[in-house]
Amino acid sequence: MPRLTTKLFTDLAIWMIGLGLLIGACFPFFAFHLVGIQAEEVFTLMFWVATMTAGLIAGLINYTLARWVVRPRLQMLAKHTYIVEKTIREASFTGDWSTCTPEKCRVYVDSNDEIGESANAFNDLVETLFRAHEIEVAVNDFSKTLSSQLELNALSKQALELLLQYTGAMGGVVFTEAAGELIISAYHGLRDPQNLSNSDHIRRAMQTNQCQRVKFPPDIRIEAILVDFRPQEILVVPIEFKNAPLGIIVLATHQEFHPDTSRLLELFRRSFGLALNNALAHDHLQRMATLDPLTGIYNRRFGLTRLREEFNRAVRAQTSLGVLMMDIDHFKAINDTYGHLVGDRVLARVTDTVKRSLREGDFLVRYGGEEFLIVLPGASAANSHQLAERVRRLITETLVKDGEQLIKFSASLGVTAHPEDQVDYELDLIKHADTALYAAKRQGRNQVMLFKP
Ligand code: GH3
Ligand code: MG
Ligand code: MG
Repeated sequence: MPRLTTKLFTDLAIWMIGLGLLIGACFPFFAFHLVGIQAEEVFTLMFWVATMTAGLIAGLINYTLARWVVRPRLQMLAKHTYIVEKTIREASFTGDWSTCTPEKCRVYVDSNDEIGESANAFNDLVETLFRAHEIEVAVNDFSKTLSSQLELNALSKQALELLLQYTGAMGGVVFTEAAGELIISAYHGLRDPQNLSNSDHIRRAMQTNQCQRVKFPPDIRIEAILVDFRPQEILVVPIEFKNAPLGIIVLATHQEFHPDTSRLLELFRRSFGLALNNALAHDHLQRMATLDPLTGIYNRRFGLTRLREEFNRAVRAQTSLGVLMMDIDHFKAINDTYGHLVGDRVLARVTDTVKRSLREGDFLVRYGGEEFLIVLPGASAANSHQLAERVRRLITETLVKDGEQLIKFSASLGVTAHPEDQVDYELDLIKHADTALYAAKRQGRNQVMLFKP
């Protein structure tokens, strides 16, 4: 039907009344030709006025009925739409969307026709808007939470928690890439997550940088409270920043993921890539600032800071603190005979040997070229002396190969400990351990000497 005006009901009135008048105007001809009424009865002004009036009344009644039946429902739809529009507008400014959930902002659907369809379409639109808003909030939240976190493991843990929450997954793991290897930086609810790093799906995701969605994965089990079970589906999400692969996230669920989950993860992985890149850069800087590059143990600056912390803690808690100073004997001769590279290997082997003798909480510092500081929180002078003796013996048993040549070496150690050695500053412990070390050197090397105040 062509539109006559911009108003539906005006169009309807014109059509209905016009049609009524047309039928009224034509009626005398029908009455004459088809019904056979006499011409002098139908072709009179009175009859014509009567039929025209009847046509006009029928048109008016039709129009009124249509308006009466359809208009309130259209008005209701318009009113609801208007209220919902106002609520959404309000929510987008206040940030409080609790008044506009899809349940609260629904238009009542009471008919199975075009008006019902319009109402349904409107409800779908509200739901989509609400979901879009939820996604926006989730992505913003995710980015905001992660951007403030620079510590790698804490970042991965937080990211994983949020991902489990947003996707409804029951378990997951975050791997970060370091020198071509995938290392777990956070996991939850998965059995043997490390085994996953060899999975084909993960390798494929890393190679293609594409998310992988796998139904009934054979190589993953979820740890529930009482039983383990095989998840219905897993999602493997590679993380990258500026085309450099940084890691991978695996999420597992006991039901299938919502169809939108993959697209949601696409948004998350961009924020996570940026946050992970920052954390890795920070981690790298931290390592450079704290670790000695040759041996991978604390450098002198950081080692001294750690020693001060441990000394203050020992004083506060009235516990012991052992300090050992160790120097490799005739190291210059090793360098001169076999070269610096062999000397470096000796330093690395000595580091490994000492590290294997330490307990959790003890630490080793590269104090100078071939001088090491060993800090033993909780160790008395006697304990420290014992450990020093064990280290000395183990070093004499360590061999470094240079071709066919087996190189043997030894070290001397000076030992002191708080509170037997009553000092006010931690640097005095170093000084005293050093004094004992030189006494050991003087005594002929490959010896342990305890500082005597
Ligand atoms: P002593 O038994 O009296 O300790 O004799 P020493 O030869 O070990 O003593 P000295 O302090 O004279 O020699 C230390 C040597 O360590 C000198 C230096 O060239 C070497 N050195 C220091 N840092 C490194 C390093 O990173 N790598 C290698 N290969 N050698 C190093
Ligand atoms: Mg030396
Ligand atoms: Mg030296």
